[in-house]
Amino acid sequence: MTAPVPLIAGNWKMHGLAAALDEARAVAAGVGAAGARVALCPPASLVHRMSQALAGSAVLVGGQDCRAEETGAFTGDVSAEMLADAGAVLVILGHSERRAGYGESDALVAAKTLAALHAGLEPIVCVGETLAQRKAGEAIAVVTAQVRGSLPPELAGRPFSVAYEPVWAIGTGLTPTTPEIEEIHRAIRATLAAMFASAQAPILYGGSVKPGNAAEILHAAEVGGALVGGASLKAADFLGIVGAL
Ligand code: PEP
Repeated sequence: MTAPVPLIAGNWKMHGLAAALDEARAVAAGVGAAGARVALCPPASLVHRMSQALAGSAVLVGGQDCRAEETGAFTGDVSAEMLADAGAVLVILGHSERRAGYGESDALVAAKTLAALHAGLEPIVCVGETLAQRKAGEAIAVVTAQVRGSLPPELAGRPFSVAYEPVWAIGTGLTPTTPEIEEIHRAIRATLAAMFASAQAPILYGGSVKPGNAAEILHAAEVGGALVGGASLKAADFLGIVGAL
């Protein structure tokens, strides 16, 4: 079985005004012949402008969330079709900040993933355990249950990725050891294989990836790229991670 093409995606979270598009342009200018697909996921307010700024470059643009419904009275929300209309080709779904901050369940993440597919977006579905769950020895059970609950069967044969992001590693500077990352990624791979006949989806690692630790993480078994938060805001840092592959 051929290895999935790696994906390195930057999650800008709620950071970035128009001036930050210069960082995106610098990423596009510096990517060169990367061994991975490279994406930036800015706030919804910048998706259209970034997709225009990066048109013709190798850098893909993604959203950070979408509503499961196509349209309706959902003040402040953005549909998958709206993101695609603005130029996004990917969307992050089920990020732990949304699971924790907005009570998003696996079932809701699965519904959003289906909406993304219908809109032609490639979903990046996030999973990950809390520190308490890891300390209780529940990490594999929690993460594989999230994978089973958050990925609808309609993903079969469609491009998507899963991002393993331990909640306690996001924005903290802490990371699991390489064997700990490999253990979870192997469990996710086995779960995907059981769910989908031939799942070639890359399994990304996310949580305090920096230029200094990227090479070790990206070369770990079953790590098919990275979802990068803080270090994606500066082109030099993000390119340092892309170049570590
Ligand atoms: C994230 O929010 O997806 C993330 C991985 O953040 P950071 O890289 O800042 O830990």
